[in-house]
Amino acid sequence: MDIALAPADRAFRDEVRAFLDEKLTPDLRADSQKQAGVFADASLNRRWHKILYEKGWVAPSWPKEHGGPGWSEVQRYIFWSECAEADAPVLPAMGLQMCGPVLMGCGTEAQKDYFLPRILSGEHYWCQGYSEPGSGSDLASLQCRAERDGDHYVVNGSKIWTTHAHFANWMFLLVRTSSEGKPQAGITFLLLDMATPGLSVKPIISLSGEHEVNQCFFDNVRIPLANRVGEENGGWKVAKYLLEFERGGGAASARVRALFNRVKEIAGKEAFEGGALLRDPSFARKLASLDCELTAMEWTERRIVSELSTRGSIGDASASSLKLASSEMLQRVTELAIEAIGHYAAPDQRDALTPGANAPGVGPEWALTPTARYLNARAWTIFGGSSEVQRNILARAALGL
Ligand SMILES: Cc1cc2nc3c(=O)[nH]c(=O)nc-3n(C[C@H](O)[C@H](O)[C@H](O)COP(=O)(O)OP(=O)(O)OC[C@H]3O[C@@H](n4cnc5c(N)ncnc54)[C@H](O)[C@@H]3O)c2cc1C
Repeated sequence: MDIALAPADRAFRDEVRAFLDEKLTPDLRADSQKQAGVFADASLNRRWHKILYEKGWVAPSWPKEHGGPGWSEVQRYIFWSECAEADAPVLPAMGLQMCGPVLMGCGTEAQKDYFLPRILSGEHYWCQGYSEPGSGSDLASLQCRAERDGDHYVVNGSKIWTTHAHFANWMFLLVRTSSEGKPQAGITFLLLDMATPGLSVKPIISLSGEHEVNQCFFDNVRIPLANRVGEENGGWKVAKYLLEFERGGGAASARVRALFNRVKEIAGKEAFEGGALLRDPSFARKLASLDCELTAMEWTERRIVSELSTRGSIGDASASSLKLASSEMLQRVTELAIEAIGHYAAPDQRDALTPGANAPGVGPEWALTPTARYLNARAWTIFGGSSEVQRNILARAALGL
């Protein structure tokens, strides 16, 4: 195991930094810093996607043959870490990190030829149709039904919590094609053009006041058989392959570290007994304790990245431990930010946070986002597998079950 950066990796890091200095312009960065959501708003991420696409860096984990940069695990990690530290917009994972790799692994040649270049260019904007009312953690219980009619499936039912479905023009979804045998054995993975008649998308406004997620209703929606990935009733295997991308990979600790650094900056500016809040022993202790845990997570993440270079796959237990640690730590950082800004946490700042809006915020500039981030961060321990579910996975791994 070699965790220190090799000279070539340090040179790569400098190249990424130079690129970010040039292309992540102050206005892009300022808009990105106002984002409280999991992924950047569509207009912002389209701008950033185009810049990365033109550079050939939009799909760090894709192999060269499909238009990726052909980076090593370490280079990807460096890239994602630098982007997080620079507050670059976070591109949605659904196309580039989820559907794309799944098509490479399980799609037909025709599906790869058609979809992969369009995911890469940003022409296709994807959303993930897995969860249903009543089927989240217990995903295999899903009921959205697809029945064959000639060379189409006819889909009826509903999907919920569909992130960015209101921006997306394509959805990958799981449907029930059989009720025989185990629930997992009757699921099929389909690709849906969102313009198909019979589909309606209704907004769900979250606690933070943002419109990130939706409920989607299917009323006799026709999907060509050619848009099936894998075998009929073989969708669970495809879904499991995809979930590993959702839970693992990336550089989660860098995103937490960037927020942590912001809290430190705020604490340097907020007043405390004639000095700065940073000098408050109680607050400083909380910061120091979180800093230690965050450092441990960073090193764990680096160890996993180093192992990935030789092992190839992250594995369920490592993916779960990273998801668990990063999401819970992110929540704690947002809690500290709220504590730091005190009464400025109370006003509703949504008007000032909308991209392109020129409504003034209440209080200093650094008090604009903490509340929205705090509220939005509650979802981190739910999506992508809740913390309880991750603990179950870890317990099973530890007990060898
Ligand atoms: C912001 C956000 C974005 C999302 N985006 C998407 C998306 O784009 N596409 C998509 O398909 N889904 C999405 N989801 C849905 C997400 O995957 C589900 O919310 C998640 O899987 C939990 O399912 P649930 O909401 O049905 O809760 P439930 O599964 O009903 O869980 C309720 C509670 O019970 C606990 N629990 C459940 N099972 C167990 C168990 N076996 N052991 C111990 N505790 C358990 C859970 O931890 C939780 O605390 C999103 C969710 C959120 C909040």
